Amino acid sequence: MENKAVEAHSAPFVRRDGINWTSVIAFSIFHIGAVAALFFFTWPAFFVALVLYWLGMSLGVGMGYHRLLTHRSYKPPKWIEYALAVCGTLALEGGPMFWVATHRVHHQFTDRDGDPHTPRDGKWWSHIVWMLVGNATHCNIEDCSRYAPDVCRDRFLVQLSNYHYVPLAIVSILLLVFGGLPFLLWGTFFRVTIGLHSTWMVNSITHFWGTRRFATRDDSRNNLFVAILSFGEGWHNNHHAHPTSARHGLAWWEIDMSWWGIRLLEAAGLAKSVQVAKLPAAPAGAREVRAN
Ligand SMILES: [Zn+2]
Ligand SMILES: [Zn+2]
Repeated sequence: MENKAVEAHSAPFVRRDGINWTSVIAFSIFHIGAVAALFFFTWPAFFVALVLYWLGMSLGVGMGYHRLLTHRSYKPPKWIEYALAVCGTLALEGGPMFWVATHRVHHQFTDRDGDPHTPRDGKWWSHIVWMLVGNATHCNIEDCSRYAPDVCRDRFLVQLSNYHYVPLAIVSILLLVFGGLPFLLWGTFFRVTIGLHSTWMVNSITHFWGTRRFATRDDSRNNLFVAILSFGEGWHNNHHAHPTSARHGLAWWEIDMSWWGIRLLEAAGLAKSVQVAKLPAAPAGAREVRAN
């Protein structure tokens, strides 16, 4: 197995030997908590979970980690960048250093040797198994500074990466204190678990199931179901064709709530240089709704 790691030449994050007990234990606890939540349902707990889901997945992962920190598809003031990054930690997908570096590696090697999570290595591999083995969830400083030098230079983002679990821990304590067990189970365990699966579905499902508008060299697909769960990240073929576009849902019917958030920031004067891909010149009923 050691040879395999060496074989993977310039491609980091692809060591596949050994079980990653931190991930196995953490994901197990969260899944058990998510099932337990079903026995403690209350409407207030459900709505608190919904708001936190939007904060973590849309503001945090979609607008923050992905479209801003990884692809720099728009420019907000620093305080907005940091606030979005803190929201991102609430999704329990690691700190921004790990997330950004891993995702840039995915774009560089998409569905080829070196992609940390391609379904060509197995559907379950791309969904969850890649995080349960090897060293995928440990972003060593060398790989991180190679793939995410901008993030590694930012002291706030580095510290946030080192202590990425702290904001979620604080929110969880507040949920328990002010709402009791139902708030904790729904607002943290159920909400985080669904969020993890919706991000993982972007890695798995939208690389083998859905439609392809653009003839990219990878297997990426557009998938409405994943797009709804992930606030727009499911328009993944659009995204691989135009990685720096802040807008992923390009047609008017391609629901992309993280794009709505970025438009709102832009309208409020809090996002500049917003990059927007356009639909290809329209055969088959394609309509462009926003000329840039
Ligand atoms: Zn992809
Ligand atoms: Zn991306």
